[in-house]
Amino acid sequence: MKEFDLIETFFKHKGYQRRDVQIGIGDDAAVLSVPAGQSLVVTTDTLLSGVHFPVNTPGRAVANKAVSVNLSDLAAMGAEPAWLSLSLSMPEIDKEWLNGFSLGLQELTEYYSVQLIGGDTVKGPLSVTITAQGFVPENQALTRGGAKPGDWIYVTGNLGDGGLALDMLQGRMDVAPRHKNYLSNRLNCPTPRVLAGTMLRRVASACIDISDGLVQDLRHILNASQVSATIQVDQLPLSQAMQESVVNDQAIRYALTAGDDYELLFTVSEEQKSHLQHVLSTTSEGFTCIGQIIGGQGKLELRRGKEKVHYDVLGFQHFRD
Ligand code: ADP
Ligand code: MG
Repeated sequence: MKEFDLIETFFKHKGYQRRDVQIGIGDDAAVLSVPAGQSLVVTTDTLLSGVHFPVNTPGRAVANKAVSVNLSDLAAMGAEPAWLSLSLSMPEIDKEWLNGFSLGLQELTEYYSVQLIGGDTVKGPLSVTITAQGFVPENQALTRGGAKPGDWIYVTGNLGDGGLALDMLQGRMDVAPRHKNYLSNRLNCPTPRVLAGTMLRRVASACIDISDGLVQDLRHILNASQVSATIQVDQLPLSQAMQESVVNDQAIRYALTAGDDYELLFTVSEEQKSHLQHVLSTTSEGFTCIGQIIGGQGKLELRRGKEKVHYDVLGFQHFRD
């Protein structure tokens, strides 16, 4: 099978098709219409076999995760996703893997109404790079830099499941059979909080998605906004699977440090707080207040009630020495 046939079979005319795509897959580049009054928001993420997913992960799961992590970055900016491009490197043409991968892409593009508009295919170690593009009304993008002292800190969903799932799948943690399915889905098919992101545009003062662990990602907000924060460890939202699988201290450690959650972490001023319930009630996603922004320069204090507590809180880092 040649590259041309591969693209025809697995990628061209597959999945959701949008009216704002003038030219999609098949020419030298895609031609797209950006709506008037909107800014284009662009993000890229690479998943490497053996680093971001286990070597034998089925294509469908890899496609799902590759799309989801990119849409999560758009969600964190308050953007509505529109287009995807795909750079795929593979050691050989594995039709079964590609079938699953193509199906996974189709499923996700249909679910989120986004279109695959192009890409590149090369021979090499298995690696999937997706670039996602979306729109946000001009001057309404959510950033890491807008948090102010007094703002409340919130997260969507539950924290730590991705880390517990990884430890479970790699045999480091024993989990009751009834929780296994939920946990592996949380790791392999994370749900990008796309609707919540767009709904937070006028309400949140800062926003980031949690990909490297709560503490590490919160630090990005603290540094960009030049503020400090307190987190109430007893308020961290934990799934039933988490609560029933590990002791509370261990659950808190997962919630603080585990990567791969893809929940949104955002701040809301006291004045906007009452709007939050209203705007997020249209999404099915739960959200929890976990602390508060205070004055200072990038300091993070963990508390249980009024008492200060300490946890070892390094999140995931690729280049840790
Ligand atoms: P060129 O050599 O001009 O860069 P290619 O032969 O690489 O073009 O690609 C032909 C068309 O197929 C282009 O529109 C490109 O965007 C698309 N394409 C190539 N690989 C992929 C892929 N993995 N997924 C989606 N579209 C792809
Ligand atoms: Mg060309």
